Amino acid sequence: MQPLERDATVALARCGGYDRDEVDAAVRRAVDLLGGIGRFVSPEQKVLLKPNLLQGQEPERCVTTHPTVVAAVARLLVEHGCQVIIGDSPGAGIVYSEANLRRAYTRARYTAVAEETGATLNYDTSYQTVSYPPGEVMKQFSIITPAIEADAIVVVSKAKTHMWTRMTGATKNLFGLIPGLEKSVFHFRFQDEYAFGEMLIDLNECMKPRLQVVDAVMAMEGDGPQAGSPRKIGVILAGSEPAAVDTVLARLIGMEPLEIGSIRSAAGRGLIDPATVRTVGDDPAEFVVPDFQKPSTYTRGRTGVWRRVTTAITQGFGKTYAPRPGVIREVCIGCGKCERICPMHAVTVTEGRAAIDLSRCIRCYCCHEICTEHAIALSRSLAGRLLAHLLG
Ligand code: SF4
Ligand code: SF4
Repeated sequence: MQPLERDATVALARCGGYDRDEVDAAVRRAVDLLGGIGRFVSPEQKVLLKPNLLQGQEPERCVTTHPTVVAAVARLLVEHGCQVIIGDSPGAGIVYSEANLRRAYTRARYTAVAEETGATLNYDTSYQTVSYPPGEVMKQFSIITPAIEADAIVVVSKAKTHMWTRMTGATKNLFGLIPGLEKSVFHFRFQDEYAFGEMLIDLNECMKPRLQVVDAVMAMEGDGPQAGSPRKIGVILAGSEPAAVDTVLARLIGMEPLEIGSIRSAAGRGLIDPATVRTVGDDPAEFVVPDFQKPSTYTRGRTGVWRRVTTAITQGFGKTYAPRPGVIREVCIGCGKCERICPMHAVTVTEGRAAIDLSRCIRCYCCHEICTEHAIALSRSLAGRLLAHLLG
């Protein structure tokens, strides 16, 4: 199949809830507005359908892509004659094993999606090295095998806030192609959110997903991607250019697109221009949520001169400014996931409880993201609260 021409068009289709017929209609409409599924994949192609599985949570919590949206995209592909494999490497800090995949699929209700649509769930936990010589910050990636073996990748992501990257939608979703514990290496290497965004663009350019569908029916606000709260946006987004799709999503949740590292990287490389992203379908203005709650790590307005000033301050004061992770001992069950994911080896679990050595901590919040018990709290010191207040 020919490479897709770059197209910063983003389709919006209203979707008020997770009723199967309504979701099916919205997904089909969004894809049709872009030219139809045949523009992105061909019959008989093997397609990896890449959801946001994280560790697999009940759909109502809005951590994972909702199963009705995954099913709607799977049905569209199956009807087109594609062989569909649903696959992801769920969450950093999680061993990429068949048992963990099985548990995650069941909790996210993707097992039922596969039974209902004829898609296959991936249990192959091997991965391979993929070279990408043009990469600006990464020249090769370890990638899970089903993504390498697929003829095409279709991403079906969840609209959420993110403590580290501010927002996760289309572009960040592809980070799940990095196998299990290898993800934490990236947090060690790319300790600035904008450098991390450059890596995400290299990854997307390397793997070139054909189509993006975002479940923004019920999003997550607050301290996402794991510990935030559901919030309705009521729309399905679709497009082929991940940073363009994220640009529209950022505006719906009250963020300036260029303050998202991956969008800024894509714009810096000339892949998109946020000012000229075109929308089709429903009017984006109908879905803007002005009081969408940002993550507690969020600092507004990091663009232009103000961005340089605030970046200098936040980097200069580093650990003073950033919220500190702390373990709520009564809630911690000692599962050790935070210890395994921490790129700085700042967490140790002894006598069934985790403890964090803040002198080693780089505030990447991987431990917060991975803890399904909500046993990691974030708080600022008095000086940090003062800085945050001054920076708005
Ligand atoms: S803090 Fe959370 S992830 Fe870490 S050991 Fe305790 S329960 Fe597990
Ligand atoms: S303890 Fe600090 S460095 Fe380790 S995962 Fe948590 S936030 Fe990241």
